[in-house]
Amino acid sequence: MEPVIQVKGLGKAYGAHVVLKDISTEISRSEVVVVIGPSGSGKSTFLRCLNLLEEPNKGDILFEGKSLMDKSTKITEIRAEMGMVFQSFNLFPHMKVIDNIMIAPIRVRGWAPDKARAKGMELLAKVGLAEKADAYPASLSGGQSQRVAIARALAMEPKVMLFDEPTSALDPEMVGEVLGVMKELAAEGMTMVIVTHEMGFAREVGDRVLFMEGGVVVEEGVPKQLFERPSHERTKSFLSKVL
Ligand code: ADP
Ligand code: MG
Repeated sequence: MEPVIQVKGLGKAYGAHVVLKDISTEISRSEVVVVIGPSGSGKSTFLRCLNLLEEPNKGDILFEGKSLMDKSTKITEIRAEMGMVFQSFNLFPHMKVIDNIMIAPIRVRGWAPDKARAKGMELLAKVGLAEKADAYPASLSGGQSQRVAIARALAMEPKVMLFDEPTSALDPEMVGEVLGVMKELAAEGMTMVIVTHEMGFAREVGDRVLFMEGGVVVEEGVPKQLFERPSHERTKSFLSKVL
């Protein structure tokens, strides 16, 4: 089966500062790929290149076989297929929770408000927050805000979900509720690329782990192998600090 995303020789620099060097990988349908690595290794830049929030300088990225670099490719259409969840929840503070979730399907997909509301309520129930539909973001805890952010991304019915350290800004007692929602998504077959420092989660839910350092994928493999028998010194050294 054709991979959902193909990354071919991806490179990204900011001026003279080379941040990504020749990254190649493929992401299959329903695969959960976890990206780990030290701060500054290029994990966020890699994720942001996947949906062209950052423009690569080199190489190519294909989504369902279509090159994102091709001038005829409609980037907004591709972006609509990739939901993204950030460390900071970025909910619209002046909008109720349900309106936060409904806005993109209405504006981008052209759904009728009734359809978007029904979908929004279904997703809020899924993330365990149906009773918060009419609340404002300021009244939510960090864990609740992040679950709303996930529901908001899912409302577009994306084919892929990208997560950039979704639990890093949370108080420890709220990490589990967010990872729980992500785990459920994985079990339902969602294709996901997740940058995280939660090694237990990576091990349990990841189908494959990429270890990045200095803008390259140093090593990748199934979690058991990468965590228990890393092949590279750099991977061993990183794991010895975080495990
Ligand atoms: P990570 O997510 O692994 O911590 P990032 O992808 O955020 O790493 O950053 C990788 C490197 O790129 C860092 O050295 C960072 O300072 C640099 N960088 C990231 N974004 C920009 C930018 N917009 N302009 C210049 N340098 C950037
Ligand atoms: Mg980052």
